[in-house]
Amino acid sequence: MLPREHGGEEQGLAEPVGPVIDQELCIACGDCAPSCPQDALSLVEGAPQVDLERCTYCGACESACPVGAIALPFEIVLITPGEGDEHGEG
Ligand code: SF4
Ligand code: SF4
Repeated sequence: MLPREHGGEEQGLAEPVGPVIDQELCIACGDCAPSCPQDALSLVEGAPQVDLERCTYCGACESACPVGAIALPFEIVLITPGEGDEHGEG
């Protein structure tokens, strides 16, 4: 019942982890590849592959898949204010 503190506490940041393709559900129809505006999806030997260098996590492929084999999960990354990426030891 304590009020949640803001500031100085760890904060959660939702980071996309990229389209995840369930190969069990995938029927290799190929619909996802042309749906991608970044040309980040291609079928390699019938299995969709995502180029995460190009992917902008727009979700178009997720919508295009007729069997719901593509998901765009997010990962909660904890960041602690004040503990940046500075490592000034030494
Ligand atoms: S989320 Fe968007 S950019 Fe990424 S692979 Fe799917 S359609 Fe392409
Ligand atoms: S649209 Fe879905 S079922 Fe079709 S190839 Fe892509 S992931 Fe597989």
